[in-house]
Amino acid sequence: MALHSKIILGLLIGLVFGIISVFIGLNDFVSDWIMPFGTIFVKMLKLVAVPLILVSLISGISNLRDTSKLSRIGGKTFGIYVLTTISAIIIALFLANTLQPGEYFPDEKTAELKEKYASDANMKITSAENVKDSGPLQMMIDVVPDNFFYSASNNRNMLQIIFFSILFGVGLVLSSPKKSAPVKKAFDGLNEIIIKIVEIIMEYAPIGVFALLAGLIVDLAGDDPNNLITTLKPLLYYAITVLIGLAFMIFIFYPIIIYSFTGISFFNFLKAIFPAQMLAFSTSSSAATLPLTMKRVEKNLNVSEEVTSFVCPLGATINMDGTSIHQAISAVFIAQAFGQDLTLTDQIVIVITATLSSIGAAAVPGAGLIMLVIVLGAIGIDPQGLALIIAIDRPLDMCRTMVNVTGDATVASLVASSEGEKIKFKT
Ligand code: ASP
Repeated sequence: MALHSKIILGLLIGLVFGIISVFIGLNDFVSDWIMPFGTIFVKMLKLVAVPLILVSLISGISNLRDTSKLSRIGGKTFGIYVLTTISAIIIALFLANTLQPGEYFPDEKTAELKEKYASDANMKITSAENVKDSGPLQMMIDVVPDNFFYSASNNRNMLQIIFFSILFGVGLVLSSPKKSAPVKKAFDGLNEIIIKIVEIIMEYAPIGVFALLAGLIVDLAGDDPNNLITTLKPLLYYAITVLIGLAFMIFIFYPIIIYSFTGISFFNFLKAIFPAQMLAFSTSSSAATLPLTMKRVEKNLNVSEEVTSFVCPLGATINMDGTSIHQAISAVFIAQAFGQDLTLTDQIVIVITATLSSIGAAAVPGAGLIMLVIVLGAIGIDPQGLALIIAIDRPLDMCRTMVNVTGDATVASLVASSEGEKIKFKT
């Protein structure tokens, strides 16, 4: 059976198993005996993320003959990432303003949810405070590590690892080949080994995905599934608006640009990237999905290692089209639910702040919600509004992470194609 079939099977069985467990009261069993296998799977994926970025980026760059190609690829990647994010936000604002999900939200629910989720919302607001307190160039400062080992010891420092790897790779290209050849060979060899490790971890993916989904359902439903249904029902229209935006990206936006610029059919593109999308759905983390995204882009879309190893890790950390769609729609939804009108200037502020906060959001579950505080603050909306959407955030996070990962694969294909590479589906 192909990997994607096995992953889907794991996902579906996990879903059904989770629902049954909730109804027959096996919540504790699932949390204690099933969910740990999902946690182990995510830990293994994260374990391999730093070595993978380090080794594949250095080995990719070391194959370049000069560094001008690297700056060209860098410029294009960053430019396309920002453009796709801004487009995503404009689409989201159009949807939120025409469908107006907040207008249908019952007033009494606003008060009820604000009270019920006040402490959860406060936690997110406190996390966002740390980001807000820093100066405008803090993001740039944070990219530069002052100690490599410190950076490598925390998966949140992905951009620092990318920075160091590029520096090391450029150093390798510029050094005398006589002296640096053994180092290059070593990195090529290490790269092979890491790719094998990713393959080994992927063998375990169906079980991991099963456990994650079952655990998630039990977690969401808690002890009283009816309570969950009454909480989520009024949020349905909001959730549908977000899902329409996300589906638009996957089924219309990316297919059009991918076909126009690379000639590859959407169906083939989807076949290549589908397992990564499923993993993104199960883990809600672009960082955890990164090893598989890179593998699929390189092996199944024929993108060179030098482009894959640069574009994908960077994308996992800064390119989040799904997150930005969610932020824009949520901001408008909360404003509408609070009865606050947004001016054109407010909408422009949303475009700017949602772009920046999706870049700043960490590639982990729930990060987008924390950064939403910044968007709300910029348009003068009470950040406690987060309480309205917290209950439904995880399922939406699963879906927006799928879009984030698809966006990274799309841009990797575009950049590779613009460098003269032939993008095609390979099994
Ligand atoms: N979970 C998302 C990701 O990892 C980030 C977010 O929107 O919360 O891509």
